Amino acid sequence: MTIELSERVKTVPPSGIRRFFEIAEERDDVISLGVGEPDFSTPWAARDAAIASLEQGKTSYTANRGKRELRDAISTYVSDRFDLEYDPDEQIIVTAGASEAVDLAFRALVDPGETVAIAQPAYISYEPGVIFAGGEVLSVPTSKGDDFRLTVGALEEAGAADADLLVLCYPNNPTGAIMREDDLEPIAAFAREHGLTVLSDEIYAELTYDGEHVSIATLPGMRERTVVFNGFSKAHAMTGLRLGYALGPTDVIGAMNRIHQYTMLSAPTTAQYAALEALESCHDDVREMVDQYDRRRRFVLSRFREIGMDVFEAKGAFYCFPEVPAGVSATEFAEEVLHEQGVAVVPGDVFGEGGTGHLRVSYATGLEELREALARIETFVEEND
Ligand code: PMP
Repeated sequence: MTIELSERVKTVPPSGIRRFFEIAEERDDVISLGVGEPDFSTPWAARDAAIASLEQGKTSYTANRGKRELRDAISTYVSDRFDLEYDPDEQIIVTAGASEAVDLAFRALVDPGETVAIAQPAYISYEPGVIFAGGEVLSVPTSKGDDFRLTVGALEEAGAADADLLVLCYPNNPTGAIMREDDLEPIAAFAREHGLTVLSDEIYAELTYDGEHVSIATLPGMRERTVVFNGFSKAHAMTGLRLGYALGPTDVIGAMNRIHQYTMLSAPTTAQYAALEALESCHDDVREMVDQYDRRRRFVLSRFREIGMDVFEAKGAFYCFPEVPAGVSATEFAEEVLHEQGVAVVPGDVFGEGGTGHLRVSYATGLEELREALARIETFVEEND
């Protein structure tokens, strides 16, 4: 007997990233530059807070929107760090990772047949999220010529003026691109002019190496039409604790909470205690991790240039996005470098339009491993020249 699956689930292919992990896991000599998660452990103060909460038996559900103290702390943190002003009662929801927040936003805002424009290359979960919500995806490719920043020209060319929502992810996964205030201003003007709601995934906001992150929600007239996502997975190295949040207009956060209260009830309680401590006392740990990522970033960029692979100057997150040599596709390069040299990277194509011919290389890996991985890539490029 076969059980008939829904059409929506059937249209979404399995993750192109997982496939590479599965091959990599079969061998024990592989260095993985394929993962999108910190190699650091969660700072001890946050772990201790989680442990203490368990010892004290704090294992019940919390308020649907998250513990009040945590929402207060998030409100203070985003105000201090990014000039984002949100009311902890009505405009913040704590979720099971930023992933849940993204999914809730699509389900709360997209009606069947509505169009969601996605600036690409982009994190792989947006497109399936739109499809699960019944929406249509419009790819808006960015390019190396624009340092992978979104431009109004790209929006116009893709026909995004007729879209209902626009998804942005800066600092970007997979390119490492950032958008400065003067890059965001024309995008904000476009969104206002065409009545687009903006979903801005800012989970890498702490990880910038050339100036501070600017949120599009801080630009004039944008707060009321933007939902911002953030979380603890990247900056605080808390991926497995599954904690994120969304900031947005009262009615949108209320609608997201209406779904969340039935589907999730509340985000993981233990993780909420860890997150509260992370915001209160782990600032120096974050700075230390960011310094290390920056050192690795500079090393990886300079090595790719030495190897003769063209690489755009990534300025945020923990990825760089080199171009594969002429005559080979990114998928071929990734498969062969994994097979021949035991280095796992991800072909840019899996992140949508604009990623073709590139590789996502994560430097959330120690310098020694990076050194070895880049030496192996160099050998591979020389042998296949
Ligand atoms: N957004 C982006 C851009 C990401 O790279 C990731 C994780 N790879 C997420 C969201 C999901 O993060 P979380 O662990 O908070 O669900």
